[in-house]
Amino acid sequence: MYKYELSSEKVPKKWYNILSDLNNELPAPKNSEGKDQVGMLPKIFSKEVLEQEFSADRYITIPKEVRELYMRLGRPSPLHRAKRLEEALNTPCKIFYKREDKSPTGSHKLNSAIAQAYYGKKEGIERLTTETGAGQWGTALSLACSLMDIDCSVYMVRTSYDQKPFRKTVINLYNGDIYPSPSTNTEYGRKILTDEPDHIGSLGIAISEAVEQALNDDKAYYSLGSVLNHVMLHQTVIGLELKKQFEIAEIEPDVMIACVGGGSNFSGFTFPFIKDKIAGNSDCEFIAVESDACPSLTEGKYEYDFGDTQGLTPLLKMFTIGSSYIAPSNHAGGLRYHGMSPIVSLLKEKEYLTSTTANQKEIFEAGKLFANCEGIIPAPESSHAIKVAIDKAKECKQTGEDKTIVFNLSGHGLLDLVGYENYLDDEL
Ligand SMILES: *Cc1c(COP(=O)(O)O)cnc(C)c1O
Repeated sequence: MYKYELSSEKVPKKWYNILSDLNNELPAPKNSEGKDQVGMLPKIFSKEVLEQEFSADRYITIPKEVRELYMRLGRPSPLHRAKRLEEALNTPCKIFYKREDKSPTGSHKLNSAIAQAYYGKKEGIERLTTETGAGQWGTALSLACSLMDIDCSVYMVRTSYDQKPFRKTVINLYNGDIYPSPSTNTEYGRKILTDEPDHIGSLGIAISEAVEQALNDDKAYYSLGSVLNHVMLHQTVIGLELKKQFEIAEIEPDVMIACVGGGSNFSGFTFPFIKDKIAGNSDCEFIAVESDACPSLTEGKYEYDFGDTQGLTPLLKMFTIGSSYIAPSNHAGGLRYHGMSPIVSLLKEKEYLTSTTANQKEIFEAGKLFANCEGIIPAPESSHAIKVAIDKAKECKQTGEDKTIVFNLSGHGLLDLVGYENYLDDEL
C-alpha cells in the first residue's frame, strides 16, 4: 500500500490544544512596560478566537459548519508513501508524506482560514484584513471569506507580489482585495513610501498595515495565518488525521519533519505526537526546518518582541531575529517571518524539538527530485522539509538504520514557478 485515505466522517470532531499539556509554562503577552496584557487584541480578534488563544482545555470542539467545510474541501488529506523517492535514494528507510497540497487553495492554510472566517461572521463582522508573504495565506483567507460571504483585504509583501503575479488573480477570483505592501491604503504604508518609494516590504510591515485597517474599521477584524496559539490549534486536524492513518499503515514514525515560517503546519502536523513525547511515551524526533535567509528558531534570540514592524501588537516571547527584519529581494522560498510561534519556541527551549536551516539552492534541488519521483511539484516552503527528509534517509543509508521518516507536504508549488525557473536557469 502506498496511499492511506480516510473517509469524510473521519475528519476530527475536536482540535487538540497542546497548551493543556504545557503546565501554564507559556509566557504571557506583555506590553512595552513589561506588564502582562493582551493590549489591543480584543479590538481586532473575535471573542471565540481570543478565548481559544488562551484556553487550557485539552480538546476544543470544531463547529459543525467548519467541520462540514473541511469535508467538502478535501479533508481528510491522504498520507502517501514516497516509494520511488526511497528507491532513488537507495535508502533502507521508509518515507511518507501527508498531502496538504491537495487543498483547493494549495496549502494547509485553509484549515485555520475557514475557522477564523466562521467566527468573524458569527460575531457580525463584515471584513477580515490580513497580510500574506508568498500568497498562500491571502489566498486561503479570501476563499474562506467568500464562503462566509464577508469581504477580505490582503496586504501582500511587495517583492513577493511582483514575483508572483497570478496570486492577485487568484485572490481577486475569490473576491478578495489585494494590495502590495507597503501600500498607500494606510498611514503606516504611506509613511514608509514617503521615505522610500521602492520599499520591497516585509511580513512585519504588511501585518502593521492589516492591523491598522482593522483598528480603524468597527466592522472589520484582523486575521493572522500563523504564529498565534489559535492558528496552531486549528491546524491540529493534520496530526489528528495522521494518527489514524499511522494505525492503518501500522507504522510508528521515528522522525517527523516539517518546514517552519511562523510554525503552523509544523504544529498541526506534530503537536498530537509531541503530546506523547511530553507524556514520556514516545522518542520520535521532531525537526523544524527554516530558511537560512530567516533563521529565527535556529539563530534567533528567545525574547519578547513585537509581532509587527510598527509595534502595534503586544510583545510575544518567541525566537526572533528582530521585528525590523527585511528578507532579501531575491528570496523566493517563503518562510520569511522574523519570529516564531511562542508555543514552538517554548518546545524548542524545552528540547522537545530541534531546528535546522536550508538554503534556496538546496531546497529547489530537493523539490525537483521529489517532483521527478512522486509527480508533485512542491511549494518551495515544503521543499525545506523534503530536503531534510532526504538528508535523513541518506544518513540512514550510511548507518544501515531503517527508520520511518514522515514529512508534511504543506503545499504545492504551481504558483511558485518563477522561483523554480530561476533555479533551473542557475539565477537564484
Ligand atoms: C505559509 C506556508 C508555510 C509556512 O507557514 P507555517 O505557518 O510555518 O506553516 C509553509 N508551507 C506552505 C505551503 C505555506 O503556504
